[in-house]
Amino acid sequence: MNRHNEKGIRGNGMDYLETLQNMSLEQIRSVIEIMQQTSDAYMYILDLNTDTYMVAEKATKRFPIDATVNEDCMKTLKKVVYPADHAMLAADLEKCRSGEKDEHALEYRWLDRKNRVVWVSCKGIVVTGAEGHRLLIGAVSELGKKAKADNITGLRREVRFRLNAEALLRDKPASIRFIMRVGIDNFKEINEKEGVEAGDEVLQELSQCILDTVDESVDVYRLVADEFMIVNAADVETRQPLEIYRQIQKKIVSMLKSKEYSRFYTVSAGVLDRDFAGRSVEELMRYTEFALNEAKRNGKNQMMVFDRKAYDVYLERLNMRKAMRRDINDEFRGFEVYYQPIVSTPDYKLIGAEALLRWHNDEYGNVSPAVFIPILEESGLIIPVGRYVLWEAARICKKWKEYIPEFHVNVNLSYVQLYRSDLMKDVEKCIREVGIDPGSLVLELTESGYIETNERIKELFKDLKERKIDLALDDFGTGYSNMRYLKEIDVKTVKIDRSFVVQALQNDYDYNIIRHIINMVHSLGSVVCMEGIEEKEELVKMMATKPDMIQGYYFGKPSPAERFEEEFLQATGSL
Ligand code: C2E
Ligand code: MG
Ligand code: MG
Repeated sequence: MNRHNEKGIRGNGMDYLETLQNMSLEQIRSVIEIMQQTSDAYMYILDLNTDTYMVAEKATKRFPIDATVNEDCMKTLKKVVYPADHAMLAADLEKCRSGEKDEHALEYRWLDRKNRVVWVSCKGIVVTGAEGHRLLIGAVSELGKKAKADNITGLRREVRFRLNAEALLRDKPASIRFIMRVGIDNFKEINEKEGVEAGDEVLQELSQCILDTVDESVDVYRLVADEFMIVNAADVETRQPLEIYRQIQKKIVSMLKSKEYSRFYTVSAGVLDRDFAGRSVEELMRYTEFALNEAKRNGKNQMMVFDRKAYDVYLERLNMRKAMRRDINDEFRGFEVYYQPIVSTPDYKLIGAEALLRWHNDEYGNVSPAVFIPILEESGLIIPVGRYVLWEAARICKKWKEYIPEFHVNVNLSYVQLYRSDLMKDVEKCIREVGIDPGSLVLELTESGYIETNERIKELFKDLKERKIDLALDDFGTGYSNMRYLKEIDVKTVKIDRSFVVQALQNDYDYNIIRHIINMVHSLGSVVCMEGIEEKEELVKMMATKPDMIQGYYFGKPSPAERFEEEFLQATGSL
């Protein structure tokens, strides 16, 4: 498993070997002590005939070994070599002794004086010394010093994972059963709340749980931060990834219990379990990262297997996000705000419009807001785009008030804008710059669980109310319909979603619910805008529920500002 056959240290010519052969053991020792001063590695000479060795003095400070051993060197080495690696080392040295090979190159584990695991690379070459003895001369270097091993967990690091995976993919991709990437859920929080030492302790605990779970033949590496890579390319380990993951979870739980739950954490995992042939290390990294992120996105504390289709969708979204970012930076090229009429009842007079964003791109054509809005939200791009919509809508509203003085414009807000930008500042700036009456602006918010719980958002609602900016609760009837919101955030308008209206048109039960809701909204002093009325019959039937406003294709579809103006304002001023 840890064997790493690299070209030995023989170099180009055999000349210096001949020189060595003519030197006495004592002379070789002095040369090594001199060379040692210029190297980080621990140089050694192992006399394979007498089973004795000498190693550079400085190794004895860090590891429990003596500088010189005069007999039974394998027994002495047992003190420093990690138990599971004894047999592998002994077998390799035996090959060097018997003449089967004359180069030694192994990666395995030592234990330092504090009994911590240290990965080392041991390389050497067999020469015949003056006394005719076969001498293995070489150096042991710590992989940790080259960032190839990790002193917190005692595991090898990403650099070594990459090298080993590269060799596996090149030489025997079919032997790889699976690669599992394990990450600690909310690790950043542990580090931030409890300190880096607590974080290190968690990493040590988890690496132990993983090592206790997997077979000796399975390789475990520590990647950046809180992630581990488990590589099963051995015939011995036959358990499926999910079984292994569940056992790691169990080990963590019992370990946390043994520590009396002084802290609590869970892990997620992403697995790649097929199609290794022809892959690059980069692909392994990307695919396992994607699967792990999916597991975390899905609620954490679970394992997900890499799914090609989901990955392609993700890539597509990523590309779309790039295209949007380009367009935004190119003065919002391809973005346009459409307007859909809102009429009052029962006179069906035009009183306002909802601003609805559109995006057209050369590559993707006209993309539905249902597709691009979530991408803008995920990436935070909704913040600049939301500002763009706000300014466009405010400017046009000012203009259209010349036709209809009480005209108002509704602008949709995303929760990302509420959480991650200074919305109040933007709204105030917009009102000031455009010079529009705050009462002409209605901000639409989708109902969802966040409204009740977040203090900052409640504060924002209070500020908006003080400045006489109205709020509308959008999508009512689709999610967490909760009358309490109405009181909590003091909305002026409740917008009943089209899907709810469609249900009400189909069955009496929902129809009656809508009727009661509208009654209740009225009794709370708010008004109702009913969305999605497409046909005359629908209008007639729904009017009996007494909505205050209607927005639907029946009165007009969303259209560009110029068309809206021509059709609805210049013509009559009413619909
Ligand atoms: P919404 O805010 O509930 O907007 C109403 C949606 O219903 C619009 O879809 C509108 O075209 C559609 N609609 C209106 N009347 C009818 C009708 O009679 N029949 C049918 N079938 N549909 C009707 P649209 O424009 O596709 O927008 C979808 C959603 O995207 C919006 O739902 C809103 O949540 C979001 N959105 C649009 N523009 C923005 C924006 O500028 N910012 C944010 N954050 N979200 C936006
Ligand atoms: Mg809306
Ligand atoms: Mg709506």
